[in-house]
Order: sequence, then structure tokens, then C-alpha cells
Amino acid sequence: MISLYILVIRRRVLVPIVLCLTWLAVFGLVLAGLLPERRVIVIDPGHGGIDGGTSSGDLLEKDVNLRMGHILREVLEARQYQVVMTRTDDSDVSHFVPNGASRYRRDLKGRVRLVGRVRPISLISIHVNWHKDSWRRGAIVYYQNGETDSHLLAEAIQEELNAIQPVKRQVRAADFYVLRNTNAPAVLVELGFISNPEDRRLMQDAAYLTKQAEAVRAGLEVFLRQIGLQDQSPRDGT
Ligand SMILES: [Zn+2]
Repeated sequence: MISLYILVIRRRVLVPIVLCLTWLAVFGLVLAGLLPERRVIVIDPGHGGIDGGTSSGDLLEKDVNLRMGHILREVLEARQYQVVMTRTDDSDVSHFVPNGASRYRRDLKGRVRLVGRVRPISLISIHVNWHKDSWRRGAIVYYQNGETDSHLLAEAIQEELNAIQPVKRQVRAADFYVLRNTNAPAVLVELGFISNPEDRRLMQDAAYLTKQAEAVRAGLEVFLRQIGLQDQSPRDGT
């Protein structure tokens, strides 16, 4: 009799729990089927505001980075990615971190904080290179030393960029604040050398920037397939 009583109580407790779990499972499956895949990419156009980055004559790195940021955003949005930009105009990001350290440091922290908030599937930081030897040229992709996924992403993007540029470059491991402090696979793309006349011309050419943006997008998709975050069939963006 006592054991029967316990059985009844257990049933009384268990049945609602089982029902609840079943409902949650079904609801989860429905949601998974109905909601679009969450594919957020953060684009981080380097520098901005009083921080012009590197320069050559009147051409400032911050302006090239921002222009490319907008072009890359269009390219990615056309493929159904959700894009968040660390800046969309000529301002820096230091206002995200009102207190402490220098403006430069707060700017970098602000970028990292934003990435932490939106939890993207990857971060693409955009910069422009400079070297005292003006013959050096070509886009180079950097990744945080020791980060396997970021290395994979960098290799995939570099390969696509090499396919469109006359000089083939290798990816480079580096130690950058924004890359180091980001959880998502993250790369920093140096679009070219502002100190090289031909690169300098190309980085002001919207058609070439669009080709580079398509290369970045193609590399990103190769990477996402490699890590199993994207189905094999390419999306046609319609
Ligand atoms: Zn830079």
C-alpha cells in the first residue's frame, strides 16, 4: 500500500515533468526549424576619429578601412549574414569604455567589448599596411598566434586574396589586442601597402575593393564549411 502511494506521488510529479520536457523538446525543434541560422559577423574597420592609422599623402588608412568595411558589409549581407560593424562613420570606439586608460586603449577595448556582446561566428578586422620599402605589396591576413580556428580562417581568406592579387603572400601569426581578446575566430586583413604606389591606387578603387571583399567572403565560407558551421551548398543570396 505504501509503495503504491509512493508510485502515485511519483507519477504525479513525473508526469508533468515528462510532459514539460516533451513540450520543450518539440518547441525547440519547431524553433530550430523556423528561425534562420544565426550567422553574425563583426566587421571592424580599424582606427577612426582622431586616429587616422597609417597614411600616404592625403590618403588616410582609417578612410580606406571604413570604405572597405561598408563594401564588405554589403557583400556579406547579400549572402544573408547578419553584420555588425564596430564603427560605421569616422569615429573611434572609445566611447564604449568611458573610463580608464588612454583613448587608444579604450578604443581597442571598445571593439573587444562589442564583439563579446554580439557573439559573432567570426570577426574580421580591416587595416592597411605600411613599409619603408615601397616595393612591398599585397594583402596579408594576420591571426592570433596559437589560435587554430583563426589560423584556418586566415589561410582560407589568404588563398582567395592570392587568387586575385599579382603578389602571393603568406598568412602571418601576430599578437594584436583585438584578436587576442576575442573568443570567436578572428583575423586582421591588411588590404595592401599604402607605401606601394600600385597598392595605394588599388585601395582607392571601389571595383578592386569589391573583388577583395568577395575574396574575404569566399574564404570565410570555406572556413565555415571546414568547421561544419555551414551546409555544403552555397547560398545564392536570393
Ligand atoms: Zn591599422
